[in-house]
Amino acid sequence: MTERLYYDDSYTRTFEARVVEHVDVDDRPAVVLDRTYFYPTGGGQPCDLGTIDGVAVVDVLTRPGDHAVLHVLAGRVASDVVSCELDWPRRLDHMQHHTGQHILTRAFIEVAGANTVSFHLSPDSVTIDLDVPEIAPDTLSRVEDYANQIVQQNRRVSARIIDADEFAGLDVRMRKMPDHLETDGLRVIEIEGLDATACGGTHVAYTGEIGIIKVLKLERSAQETRVEFRCGQRALHDYRAKNGLANQLAAELTVGTWEVAQAVARLKVDLKEARSAHKVAQARLIEYEAGELLTSADVHGETRVVRAVFDNRDVVKLRALAGHLTEKKATVILLGTAGEKAHLIMARSQDLSYDMNAALKQALAVLGTARGGGRPEFAQGGGVAATVGEIEAALQDAEQHLFR
Ligand SMILES: [Zn+2]
Repeated sequence: MTERLYYDDSYTRTFEARVVEHVDVDDRPAVVLDRTYFYPTGGGQPCDLGTIDGVAVVDVLTRPGDHAVLHVLAGRVASDVVSCELDWPRRLDHMQHHTGQHILTRAFIEVAGANTVSFHLSPDSVTIDLDVPEIAPDTLSRVEDYANQIVQQNRRVSARIIDADEFAGLDVRMRKMPDHLETDGLRVIEIEGLDATACGGTHVAYTGEIGIIKVLKLERSAQETRVEFRCGQRALHDYRAKNGLANQLAAELTVGTWEVAQAVARLKVDLKEARSAHKVAQARLIEYEAGELLTSADVHGETRVVRAVFDNRDVVKLRALAGHLTEKKATVILLGTAGEKAHLIMARSQDLSYDMNAALKQALAVLGTARGGGRPEFAQGGGVAATVGEIEAALQDAEQHLFR
């Protein structure tokens, strides 16, 4: 069994140890050491990383059965005695968040009467789940204030092993214990005068080392609330990024940082007004365009034929134009737009009886496709690449088909 030195000392980053076993874990080399400061994944905390004799440690896990700590490596190590070094920023991040979690959990109990039911720590997010469906914003502020007071009071954090008798007399909040906890009793993390929690993780020695505890957001799921938070260096990075974003937005909007929300609200109102004005203008433009097209229409007996070709015109607007023209009496409409995905619209007013579907088939055949269809009074199709000249030829063919 590996002696787990991190239980009593979270701060040692370099150490020497003897290799007692070489094994393979999923085709990767791994070593068992007689003693280790590397924390293996467990209890909601990811493992430590670092190097052993200069070779990268890619995973650390507990072997089921004998609970030996397996250090999975990027390559093999040859020596019997190896020099080990922990990835310290990663370890410190875990220590800050694990201790921060104990404090935040206690703060939610004291201020909101809410209990923590689970804890999750990964490089991307840190969360606890509370057994209540809701936390009011002002309650959350008081929880944060409470937690950060504990940080600023720089209280002592200590770990010790207690036996069953002492456990019975102690007000210990039990979280699920890691089942690989290799101790003769129960390991309890005490924050001086505040909290005692059964835990197998790594922690800072004084609460001041956490720096800050900041809740980022609450998310409700069924009867629980997920609390996302950051401590220490991660909280600083988060603040730096968000402060940068706030300054950037303020500069974009040429307002002060605290006026950004107001400026965005104003922009939303302006945008809504502009959109509705645009809609009215578009409708008027289509009406005007329809009038222009009607004055230059071909005439076959009593029927006017509006034939027009566009280049890369928006199909929705083309459809609106056709719709507007079909409201006129005795009118046939042959519209097309050229481009990578050409589109044809064949339509007529209700008082006529031409089969526009047949006319469309005729025109599509000229373009070498059959993709399209519709009703006798309105049909559309296309989807192939075509030039203005090719569309013009296709529409002429359709017109001849209708009026030969
Ligand atoms: Zn802990």
